[in-house]
Amino acid sequence: MSIIIAIDGPAGTGKSTVSRAVAAKLGLEYFDTGATYRVAALHCLREGVNLKNEDDVTAMVSTMNVEMRLDPANPAVILEDEDVSRLLHTDTISLIVSDVATNLQARAVLGNMQRHLIAASRKGAGMVVEGRDITTIIAPEAEVRVLLTADDEVRVARRAGDGADPATVREAVLGRDRKDATVVEFHTAADGVVQIDTTYLTIEEVVLTVVRLAKAQLAEEASE
Ligand code: C5P
Repeated sequence: MSIIIAIDGPAGTGKSTVSRAVAAKLGLEYFDTGATYRVAALHCLREGVNLKNEDDVTAMVSTMNVEMRLDPANPAVILEDEDVSRLLHTDTISLIVSDVATNLQARAVLGNMQRHLIAASRKGAGMVVEGRDITTIIAPEAEVRVLLTADDEVRVARRAGDGADPATVREAVLGRDRKDATVVEFHTAADGVVQIDTTYLTIEEVVLTVVRLAKAQLAEEASE
């Protein structure tokens, strides 16, 4: 018996923190699909590929050698034998990643990679997988499907750290969402997807809500 918990939503909804915590609590793998887009952007940047050239980007994404480590206690992204995890959340990457995400050929390649990892996790207890199109396109069959949302200003505020340039943060959250939303819908819950507005909730409250949904699902499966 395995369980897939799919969690989608825009930037700054607490998706990664919640997903990782739920995976740790339930003993599941944790897969951040955003990291597959981010590592693709990093690889293209390093190889000097013009991110606006869709064919070149797709060729680069198809041949890159990436390993995703899915342990929620220690998730990591290995690119060509180098742990690049800490390089993926810089402003530089956040501001260019949508060029990869809006390239439909590159999306197809990364989507295949994601589906393989999700299928493999079925051999174990399962996984929590987060992104933008997991509940709808990549794993619509997931037993638990959740969309996290929050007011725009709250999302921007959550990303604004000490010394961060406000205009850059705004662009890395709202500008990025606007670009991403041209290829995937992640602001409105699809049929069967539970929407949780996190604007006034703590991380712990959101984690608890998702864990409850998962436990209810597992209990239902066990009684079948
Ligand atoms: O989740 P995160 O903010 O790290 O995602 C980084 C980027 O990856 C998003 O802005 C989007 O461009 C892309 N993405 C996507 N589909 C997913 C996950 C992420 O297009 N399932």
